[in-house]
Amino acid sequence: MMLTIDETRYQDAHQRDCARVAALLSDGALHSRPNVADALQMTSTTTSRVVADLLDRGLLIGEAGEKSGRGRPAAKIALNPGRLGATIIHISSRSLLGVLVDLSGKVIERRSIDIPVESDGAYMAAAMRRLVVTLVGQCTPGMHHIGTSVSVSGVVNVRERKWLITSRWPNIRNLDLGAALAPVTPVVIVCRHLDAELNARTLNDTAHAHDNTLLLHWGWGIGLAYGVDGEPFMRAGEPFGEIGHWRFNLLEQRQCGCGNHGCLETAAALWALLPQLRELWPDLSEDEELVAGQLAELQLADLPEITTALSLMARSLANVCRLLFPKRIIVTGPFIANRDLWDAFETAFHAEGVMGGLELPVLVADKSSEDYAILGAVRPLLNLGLETFIRS
Ligand SMILES: [Zn+2]
Repeated sequence: MMLTIDETRYQDAHQRDCARVAALLSDGALHSRPNVADALQMTSTTTSRVVADLLDRGLLIGEAGEKSGRGRPAAKIALNPGRLGATIIHISSRSLLGVLVDLSGKVIERRSIDIPVESDGAYMAAAMRRLVVTLVGQCTPGMHHIGTSVSVSGVVNVRERKWLITSRWPNIRNLDLGAALAPVTPVVIVCRHLDAELNARTLNDTAHAHDNTLLLHWGWGIGLAYGVDGEPFMRAGEPFGEIGHWRFNLLEQRQCGCGNHGCLETAAALWALLPQLRELWPDLSEDEELVAGQLAELQLADLPEITTALSLMARSLANVCRLLFPKRIIVTGPFIANRDLWDAFETAFHAEGVMGGLELPVLVADKSSEDYAILGAVRPLLNLGLETFIRS
């Protein structure tokens, strides 16, 4: 994984050089000292001093390379990914998935805990602490644990690290994740699952990295993330993209988990449609990945409740386009795994249009990616951990 540093955050020139070398070596390859000096335009004396310091602190590992032309050993160096570790808590349907990764983003350990639907904030906080303690216990020898990134679905205030509402656990409101995890981890970062996933997708897809991209998740809940040039559109960390709670007159008799009536989710989210769909197919799972496989095989597109959901979703998405004008929209979630439903959704979206002759954005159906969500959640934590380590 490529780490990024903010050079302006280092007043000490030596520390700044250490950070630059570590970021360069985070490509995972072996480098020679002259190659590092060249790439960063540092003198050989400075490079040697920085490399010696980082070797000493265990952040780099050295490997004796081939003899150079003049017969001197040209040792190669690489980043030691095992020096720093980070934990991530990710929400996966109605369970917590905990992951321990090293500095290269490689997964060292995974654990999961099921959280019953009736759980409250205290129960959730205790389970998260248990998960972090277990994972930290799996750190390899010499690994320093830098902190925990919590990636949540639902409505979240990232800046205040508060999980406001989640449709999976209706009794959890305003959970202070920073305070909940402070006893067991040095740093807590909170992110929106969809922001993390979109960020990692954009960084890994260089062809579209500069497109304004919208990620719409149509699943248990409904929400979206928006990235401009690979960066989240909303940087202030307040809630964003909760189109699942846009309200419609047509739905005003229906109660939503957020406390309002008439939200889009009451007609189109999996939590609202599942009871009706189970009258026809009682075995449908509430796990998004499992139900995606089940829905793919069913005759869904003609059901009246699905037709309503589909037209409301298409209109909502077209309205979002008239606000944000994305170039590309990635749609994820279990419903669109059904081919007929996806075709009908695309047709309804195209029929909506954007405005006048304006070109419609490209619509792409994809699976939700746990790997992307974890990568996107851990990257800012690793960048921060590297900075803290170098400044300490
Ligand atoms: Zn609502």
